[in-house]
Amino acid sequence: MKEVLLLKCGEIVLKGLNRKTFEDRLLKNLKRRMANVADCNISMRQSVVYVEIPDEADGDAVMECAKRVFGFATISRAAVCPEKTLESVIGTAKAYLAPRFAEAASFKVESKRGDKKFPMTSTEISQHVGGELADLFPDVRPDMHHPELTVNVEIREQYAFVHAGPEPGAGGMPIGSNGRAGLLLSGGIDSPVAGWMMAKRGLELVGIHFFSYPYTSEQAKEKVFELARKLSAWCGRMSVMVVPFTKIQEEIREKCHEELFTLIMRRFMMRISERVAEEYGCGALITGESLGQVASQTMPAMAVTGAVCSLPVFRPCIGMDKEEIVRIARRIDTFETSILPYEDCCTVFTPKHPNTRPKMPKILEAESRLDVDALVNEAVAGIEIVHI
Ligand code: ATP
Ligand code: MG
Repeated sequence: MKEVLLLKCGEIVLKGLNRKTFEDRLLKNLKRRMANVADCNISMRQSVVYVEIPDEADGDAVMECAKRVFGFATISRAAVCPEKTLESVIGTAKAYLAPRFAEAASFKVESKRGDKKFPMTSTEISQHVGGELADLFPDVRPDMHHPELTVNVEIREQYAFVHAGPEPGAGGMPIGSNGRAGLLLSGGIDSPVAGWMMAKRGLELVGIHFFSYPYTSEQAKEKVFELARKLSAWCGRMSVMVVPFTKIQEEIREKCHEELFTLIMRRFMMRISERVAEEYGCGALITGESLGQVASQTMPAMAVTGAVCSLPVFRPCIGMDKEEIVRIARRIDTFETSILPYEDCCTVFTPKHPNTRPKMPKILEAESRLDVDALVNEAVAGIEIVHI
Protein backbone atom coordinates (compact mmCIF):
# COMPACT_ATOMS: atom_id res chain seq x y z
CA MET A 1 0.00 0.00 0.00
CA LYS A 2 1.33 3.44 -0.93
CA GLU A 3 1.94 5.67 2.07
CA VAL A 4 2.54 9.41 2.33
CA LEU A 5 3.01 12.04 5.00
CA LEU A 6 0.69 15.03 4.82
CA LEU A 7 2.36 17.96 6.55
CA LYS A 8 0.36 21.07 7.39
CA CYS A 9 2.20 24.34 7.81
CA GLY A 10 1.98 26.17 11.10
CA GLU A 11 2.54 29.83 11.73
CA ILE A 12 3.92 30.61 8.29
CA VAL A 13 0.44 30.63 6.79
CA LEU A 14 0.00 33.97 8.56
CA LYS A 15 2.89 35.61 6.77
CA GLY A 16 1.11 37.37 3.92
CA LEU A 17 3.41 38.40 1.11
CA ASN A 18 6.43 36.65 2.59
CA ARG A 19 4.58 33.40 2.57
CA LYS A 20 6.13 32.14 -0.64
CA THR A 21 9.67 32.72 0.66
CA PHE A 22 8.81 30.96 3.90
CA GLU A 23 7.26 28.00 2.11
CA ASP A 24 10.25 27.66 -0.20
CA ARG A 25 12.60 27.62 2.74
CA LEU A 26 10.46 25.13 4.62
CA LEU A 27 10.41 22.80 1.63
CA LYS A 28 14.15 23.14 1.12
CA ASN A 29 14.83 22.38 4.82
CA LEU A 30 12.58 19.34 4.71
CA LYS A 31 14.16 17.98 1.54
CA ARG A 32 17.68 18.42 2.84
CA ARG A 33 16.89 16.68 6.12
CA MET A 34 14.88 13.90 4.50
CA ALA A 35 17.76 13.16 2.11
CA ASN A 36 19.61 11.54 5.06
CA VAL A 37 16.73 9.15 5.67
CA ALA A 38 15.10 8.06 2.42
CA ASP A 39 14.72 8.98 -1.22
CA CYS A 40 11.24 10.52 -0.96
CA ASN A 41 9.42 12.56 -3.55
CA ILE A 42 8.41 15.81 -1.80
CA SER A 43 5.98 18.39 -3.16
CA MET A 44 3.65 21.11 -1.96
CA ARG A 45 0.08 21.90 -3.02
CA GLN A 46 -2.25 24.38 -1.33
CA SER A 47 -0.03 24.75 1.75
CA VAL A 48 0.09 20.98 2.30
CA VAL A 49 3.40 19.23 1.86
CA TYR A 50 3.35 15.67 0.54
CA VAL A 51 6.16 13.26 1.36
CA GLU A 52 5.82 10.05 -0.62
CA ILE A 53 7.32 7.14 1.28
CA PRO A 54 9.05 4.70 -1.13
CA ASP A 55 8.19 1.01 -0.63
CA GLU A 56 11.71 0.12 0.49
CA ALA A 57 12.00 3.00 2.99
CA ASP A 58 11.55 2.84 6.76
CA GLY A 59 8.25 4.71 7.23
CA ASP A 60 8.85 5.19 10.97
CA ALA A 61 12.21 6.85 10.31
CA VAL A 62 10.65 9.13 7.69
CA MET A 63 7.96 10.13 10.21
CA GLU A 64 10.51 10.74 12.99
CA CYS A 65 12.59 12.93 10.72
CA ALA A 66 9.56 15.01 9.66
CA LYS A 67 8.56 15.52 13.29
CA ARG A 68 11.83 17.36 13.89
CA VAL A 69 11.49 19.89 11.09
CA PHE A 70 10.39 23.28 12.42
CA GLY A 71 7.50 24.97 10.64
CA PHE A 72 4.94 22.17 10.54
CA ALA A 73 1.92 22.20 12.84
CA THR A 74 0.68 18.67 12.20
CA ILE A 75 1.74 15.53 10.35
CA SER A 76 -0.55 12.75 9.23
CA ARG A 77 0.81 9.43 8.04
CA ALA A 78 -1.71 8.28 5.48
CA ALA A 79 -2.48 5.59 2.92
CA VAL A 80 -3.12 6.68 -0.66
CA CYS A 81 -6.34 5.23 -2.06
CA PRO A 82 -5.76 3.62 -5.49
CA GLU A 83 -8.79 5.47 -6.85
CA LYS A 84 -10.76 8.54 -5.86
CA THR A 85 -13.97 6.58 -5.16
CA LEU A 86 -15.81 5.66 -1.99
CA GLU A 87 -15.23 1.94 -2.64
CA SER A 88 -11.51 2.57 -2.85
CA VAL A 89 -11.60 4.70 0.35
CA ILE A 90 -13.45 1.96 2.22
CA GLY A 91 -11.16 -0.81 0.94
CA THR A 92 -8.07 1.23 1.88
CA ALA A 93 -9.40 2.09 5.36
CA LYS A 94 -10.26 -1.56 5.95
CA ALA A 95 -6.77 -2.78 5.12
CA TYR A 96 -4.65 0.15 6.35
CA LEU A 97 -6.44 0.73 9.64
CA ALA A 98 -7.19 -2.91 10.53
CA PRO A 99 -4.54 -2.87 13.31
CA ARG A 100 -6.11 0.30 14.76
CA PHE A 101 -9.62 -1.19 14.60
CA ALA A 102 -8.28 -4.27 16.42
CA GLU A 103 -7.26 -2.06 19.37
CA ALA A 104 -10.19 0.36 19.50
CA ALA A 105 -13.59 -0.06 21.15
CA SER A 106 -15.23 2.81 19.28
CA PHE A 107 -14.71 4.88 16.12
CA LYS A 108 -16.02 7.63 13.93
CA VAL A 109 -15.22 8.94 10.47
CA GLU A 110 -14.25 12.54 9.74
CA SER A 111 -13.95 13.73 6.17
CA LYS A 112 -12.45 16.70 4.38
CA ARG A 113 -13.25 17.47 0.80
CA GLY A 114 -10.50 19.62 -0.72
CA ASP A 115 -11.70 18.71 -4.21
CA LYS A 116 -15.03 20.51 -4.47
CA LYS A 117 -15.83 18.61 -7.68
CA PHE A 118 -16.17 15.38 -5.73
CA PRO A 119 -19.89 14.54 -5.96
CA MET A 120 -20.64 14.21 -2.20
CA THR A 121 -20.36 16.55 0.77
CA SER A 122 -17.98 15.71 3.58
CA THR A 123 -20.90 14.77 5.85
CA GLU A 124 -22.23 12.37 3.23
CA ILE A 125 -18.77 10.83 2.79
CA SER A 126 -18.42 10.30 6.55
CA GLN A 127 -21.85 8.76 6.86
CA HIS A 128 -21.37 6.38 3.97
CA VAL A 129 -17.81 5.29 4.87
CA GLY A 130 -18.78 5.05 8.57
CA GLY A 131 -21.74 2.81 7.78
CA GLU A 132 -19.63 0.45 5.69
CA LEU A 133 -16.80 0.30 8.26
CA ALA A 134 -19.34 -0.42 11.03
CA ASP A 135 -20.42 -3.51 9.05
CA LEU A 136 -16.81 -4.55 8.39
CA PHE A 137 -15.76 -4.14 12.07
CA PRO A 138 -18.87 -5.13 14.04
CA ASP A 139 -16.95 -5.27 17.35
CA VAL A 140 -16.04 -1.57 17.17
CA ARG A 141 -19.00 0.63 18.01
CA PRO A 142 -19.64 3.96 16.26
CA ASP A 143 -19.31 6.87 18.70
CA MET A 144 -19.62 10.42 17.41
CA HIS A 145 -18.53 12.12 20.66
CA HIS A 146 -15.60 10.28 22.27
CA PRO A 147 -14.31 7.75 19.74
CA GLU A 148 -11.06 5.92 20.47
CA LEU A 149 -10.27 5.87 16.76
CA THR A 150 -11.02 8.64 14.29
CA VAL A 151 -10.82 7.53 10.68
CA ASN A 152 -9.85 10.56 8.60
CA VAL A 153 -10.79 10.67 4.94
CA GLU A 154 -9.26 13.46 2.86
CA ILE A 155 -10.42 13.87 -0.71
CA ARG A 156 -7.82 16.11 -2.35
CA GLU A 157 -7.45 17.23 -5.95
CA GLN A 158 -5.27 14.34 -7.10
CA TYR A 159 -5.85 11.56 -4.61
CA ALA A 160 -7.94 10.42 -1.68
CA PHE A 161 -6.17 9.62 1.59
CA VAL A 162 -7.04 7.66 4.71
CA HIS A 163 -5.36 8.07 8.09
CA ALA A 164 -5.95 7.75 11.82
CA GLY A 165 -5.48 11.41 12.69
CA PRO A 166 -2.69 13.96 12.72
CA GLU A 167 0.22 14.01 15.16
CA PRO A 168 1.81 17.24 16.36
CA GLY A 169 4.70 18.53 14.24
CA ALA A 170 7.71 20.40 15.67
CA GLY A 171 5.88 23.74 15.38
CA GLY A 172 7.78 27.01 15.14
CA MET A 173 9.19 28.58 11.99
CA PRO A 174 11.52 27.21 9.30
CA ILE A 175 15.20 27.26 10.26
CA GLY A 176 16.87 30.28 8.72
CA SER A 177 13.65 32.22 8.14
CA ASN A 178 14.60 34.63 10.92
CA GLY A 179 18.33 34.68 10.21
CA ARG A 180 21.30 33.27 12.05
CA ALA A 181 22.57 33.52 15.64
CA GLY A 182 25.61 32.44 17.64
CA LEU A 183 24.82 29.92 20.39
CA LEU A 184 27.20 29.89 23.36
CA LEU A 185 27.25 26.15 23.80
CA SER A 186 28.71 24.72 26.99
CA GLY A 187 28.44 21.07 27.94
CA GLY A 188 25.58 21.77 30.35
CA ILE A 189 21.84 21.22 30.28
CA ASP A 190 20.70 24.77 29.62
CA SER A 191 22.52 26.01 26.54
CA PRO A 192 21.40 23.19 24.17
CA VAL A 193 17.81 23.85 25.29
CA ALA A 194 18.27 27.58 24.69
CA GLY A 195 19.60 26.86 21.20
CA TRP A 196 16.71 24.55 20.42
CA MET A 197 14.16 27.14 21.57
CA MET A 198 15.59 29.83 19.34
CA ALA A 199 16.07 27.47 16.39
CA LYS A 200 12.37 26.74 16.74
CA ARG A 201 11.75 30.43 16.10
CA GLY A 202 13.51 30.13 12.76
CA LEU A 203 17.13 30.89 13.68
CA GLU A 204 19.99 29.02 12.11
CA LEU A 205 22.63 28.28 14.79
CA VAL A 206 26.38 28.69 14.84
CA GLY A 207 27.80 27.00 17.95
CA ILE A 208 30.53 28.74 19.95
CA HIS A 209 32.39 26.73 22.57
CA PHE A 210 35.11 27.96 24.92
CA PHE A 211 37.65 25.29 25.55
CA SER A 212 40.30 25.36 28.29
CA TYR A 213 42.70 22.56 27.57
CA PRO A 214 44.22 20.98 29.67
CA TYR A 215 41.89 22.18 32.47
CA THR A 216 39.05 20.68 30.50
CA SER A 217 39.60 17.42 28.62
CA GLU A 218 39.18 16.22 25.05
CA GLN A 219 36.19 14.27 26.33
CA ALA A 220 34.54 17.50 27.44
CA LYS A 221 34.98 18.84 23.91
CA GLU A 222 33.61 15.63 22.36
CA LYS A 223 30.60 15.96 24.62
CA VAL A 224 29.89 19.41 23.17
CA PHE A 225 30.12 18.00 19.62
CA GLU A 226 27.71 15.25 20.62
CA LEU A 227 25.28 17.88 21.91
CA ALA A 228 25.61 19.78 18.64
CA ARG A 229 24.95 16.53 16.76
CA LYS A 230 21.77 15.98 18.79
CA LEU A 231 20.70 19.55 18.12
CA SER A 232 21.32 19.10 14.42
CA ALA A 233 18.56 16.48 14.31
CA TRP A 234 16.30 19.53 14.78
CA CYS A 235 18.37 22.37 13.36
CA GLY A 236 20.04 20.75 10.39
CA ARG A 237 23.73 21.14 9.73
CA MET A 238 25.64 23.23 12.22
CA SER A 239 29.21 24.38 12.78
CA VAL A 240 30.88 24.70 16.16
CA MET A 241 33.63 27.26 16.69
CA VAL A 242 36.01 25.99 19.33
CA VAL A 243 37.70 28.96 21.00
CA PRO A 244 40.97 28.43 22.89
CA PHE A 245 40.26 29.95 26.30
CA THR A 246 43.06 28.73 28.55
CA LYS A 247 45.31 31.76 28.28
CA ILE A 248 42.51 34.19 29.04
CA GLN A 249 41.48 32.26 32.12
CA GLU A 250 45.05 32.05 33.38
CA GLU A 251 45.55 35.78 32.86
CA ILE A 252 42.38 36.62 34.76
CA ARG A 253 43.33 34.29 37.59
CA GLU A 254 46.73 35.87 37.83
CA LYS A 255 45.78 39.53 37.60
CA CYS A 256 42.20 39.99 38.85
CA HIS A 257 40.51 39.56 42.19
CA GLU A 258 39.05 36.09 42.62
CA GLU A 259 35.50 37.27 43.35
CA LEU A 260 35.32 38.86 39.87
CA PHE A 261 36.81 35.91 38.01
CA THR A 262 33.58 34.48 36.56
CA LEU A 263 32.19 37.85 35.50
CA ILE A 264 35.33 38.96 33.72
CA MET A 265 35.57 35.57 32.06
CA ARG A 266 31.98 35.84 30.85
CA ARG A 267 32.64 39.30 29.48
CA PHE A 268 35.45 37.79 27.41
CA MET A 269 33.07 35.12 26.17
CA MET A 270 30.62 37.76 25.01
CA ARG A 271 33.29 39.87 23.30
CA ILE A 272 34.72 36.89 21.43
CA SER A 273 31.25 35.63 20.52
CA GLU A 274 30.38 38.99 19.06
CA ARG A 275 33.47 38.81 16.86
CA VAL A 276 32.44 35.33 15.69
CA ALA A 277 28.91 36.63 15.07
CA GLU A 278 30.25 39.44 12.92
CA GLU A 279 32.32 37.07 10.83
CA TYR A 280 29.51 34.54 10.29
CA GLY A 281 26.59 36.90 9.72
CA CYS A 282 24.87 36.29 13.06
CA GLY A 283 22.37 38.91 14.19
CA ALA A 284 22.24 37.88 17.85
CA LEU A 285 23.82 35.73 20.55
CA ILE A 286 22.04 33.03 22.55
CA THR A 287 22.91 31.83 26.06
CA GLY A 288 21.35 29.33 28.45
CA GLU A 289 21.15 31.75 31.37
CA SER A 290 18.26 31.55 33.82
CA LEU A 291 17.65 34.33 36.31
CA GLY A 292 19.27 33.69 39.68
CA GLN A 293 20.37 30.13 38.83
CA VAL A 294 24.02 30.85 39.74
CA ALA A 295 26.00 33.88 40.95
CA SER A 296 26.76 35.03 37.40
CA GLN A 297 23.09 35.01 36.47
CA THR A 298 21.76 37.68 38.83
CA MET A 299 20.35 40.78 37.21
CA PRO A 300 23.39 42.99 38.00
CA ALA A 301 25.75 40.23 36.81
CA MET A 302 23.94 39.92 33.49
CA ALA A 303 24.02 43.70 33.07
CA VAL A 304 27.79 43.58 33.46
CA THR A 305 28.29 40.71 31.01
CA GLY A 306 25.81 42.07 28.47
CA ALA A 307 27.46 45.50 28.52
CA VAL A 308 30.41 44.43 26.35
CA CYS A 309 28.35 43.56 23.31
CA SER A 310 25.96 45.49 21.16
CA LEU A 311 24.14 42.60 19.51
CA PRO A 312 20.90 41.47 21.13
CA VAL A 313 21.48 38.60 23.57
CA PHE A 314 18.65 36.06 23.62
CA ARG A 315 18.24 34.14 26.87
CA PRO A 316 15.15 32.01 26.26
CA CYS A 317 15.58 30.04 29.52
CA ILE A 318 15.64 33.22 31.59
CA GLY A 319 12.20 32.69 33.14
CA MET A 320 12.33 28.92 33.39
CA ASP A 321 12.91 26.67 36.39
CA LYS A 322 15.56 23.97 36.11
CA GLU A 323 12.78 21.37 36.03
CA GLU A 324 11.19 22.98 33.00
CA ILE A 325 14.53 23.17 31.23
CA VAL A 326 15.22 19.51 32.01
CA ARG A 327 11.84 18.52 30.61
CA ILE A 328 12.74 20.07 27.26
CA ALA A 329 16.27 18.61 27.39
CA ARG A 330 14.74 15.13 27.72
CA ARG A 331 12.29 15.74 24.92
CA ILE A 332 14.97 16.89 22.50
CA ASP A 333 17.31 14.11 23.60
CA THR A 334 20.20 16.24 24.88
CA PHE A 335 19.74 15.51 28.59
CA GLU A 336 21.62 12.20 28.82
CA THR A 337 24.62 13.74 27.08
CA SER A 338 24.50 16.94 29.15
CA ILE A 339 24.74 15.06 32.45
CA LEU A 340 27.89 13.16 31.48
CA PRO A 341 30.38 14.14 34.17
CA TYR A 342 33.00 16.16 32.24
CA GLU A 343 34.15 19.48 33.62
CA ASP A 344 33.30 22.80 31.97
CA CYS A 345 35.64 25.77 31.72
CA CYS A 346 33.35 27.69 34.09
CA THR A 347 33.69 25.16 36.88
CA VAL A 348 37.46 24.94 36.74
CA PHE A 349 38.24 28.30 38.35
CA THR A 350 34.95 28.96 40.16
CA PRO A 351 35.55 31.50 42.94
CA LYS A 352 34.60 30.53 46.49
CA HIS A 353 32.75 33.80 47.03
CA PRO A 354 31.61 35.12 43.65
CA ASN A 355 30.36 38.68 43.51
CA THR A 356 26.62 38.66 42.83
CA ARG A 357 26.25 42.47 42.86
CA PRO A 358 29.16 43.63 40.77
CA LYS A 359 29.89 47.33 40.26
CA MET A 360 31.06 48.36 36.83
CA PRO A 361 33.98 50.58 37.98
CA LYS A 362 35.51 47.67 39.89
CA ILE A 363 35.22 45.42 36.84
CA LEU A 364 36.76 48.02 34.58
CA GLU A 365 39.57 48.62 37.04
CA ALA A 366 40.32 44.88 37.14
CA GLU A 367 40.19 44.58 33.35
CA SER A 368 42.61 47.49 32.95
CA ARG A 369 45.31 45.10 34.16
CA LEU A 370 44.71 42.88 31.11
CA ASP A 371 45.43 43.51 27.45
CA VAL A 372 41.83 42.80 26.51
CA ASP A 373 42.12 43.47 22.77
CA ALA A 374 45.22 41.36 22.31
CA LEU A 375 43.73 38.47 24.28
CA VAL A 376 40.50 38.60 22.25
CA ASN A 377 42.40 38.78 18.96
CA GLU A 378 44.60 35.86 19.88
CA ALA A 379 41.62 33.72 20.89
CA VAL A 380 39.73 34.57 17.69
CA ALA A 381 42.79 33.74 15.60
CA GLY A 382 43.05 30.34 17.27
CA ILE A 383 39.47 29.26 16.60
CA GLU A 384 39.02 25.73 15.27
CA ILE A 385 35.93 25.23 13.11
CA VAL A 386 34.19 21.87 13.34
CA HIS A 387 31.33 21.00 10.97
CA ILE A 388 28.80 18.74 12.59
P1 ATP B 1 24.66 25.30 30.91
O1 ATP B 1 23.84 24.23 31.50
O2 ATP B 1 24.19 25.71 29.55
O3 ATP B 1 26.12 24.97 30.94
P2 ATP B 1 24.92 26.77 33.32
O4 ATP B 1 23.74 26.84 34.14
O5 ATP B 1 25.99 25.79 33.66
O6 ATP B 1 24.48 26.58 31.82
P3 ATP B 1 26.93 28.85 33.25
O7 ATP B 1 27.98 27.84 33.31
O8 ATP B 1 26.95 29.99 34.19
O9 ATP B 1 25.49 28.24 33.32
O10 ATP B 1 26.88 29.46 31.81
C1 ATP B 1 25.86 30.31 31.41
C2 ATP B 1 25.81 30.31 29.90
O11 ATP B 1 27.06 30.73 29.38
C3 ATP B 1 25.62 28.93 29.32
O12 ATP B 1 24.26 28.59 29.25
C4 ATP B 1 26.24 29.07 27.95
O13 ATP B 1 25.35 29.71 27.05
C5 ATP B 1 27.41 30.00 28.23
N1 ATP B 1 28.62 29.20 28.51
C6 ATP B 1 29.12 28.79 29.68
N2 ATP B 1 30.25 28.08 29.53
C7 ATP B 1 30.49 28.03 28.21
C8 ATP B 1 31.51 27.43 27.38
N3 ATP B 1 32.50 26.73 27.90
N4 ATP B 1 31.42 27.60 26.06
C9 ATP B 1 30.40 28.28 25.51
N5 ATP B 1 29.43 28.88 26.22
C10 ATP B 1 29.45 28.74 27.55
MG1 MG C 1 27.69 25.49 32.18
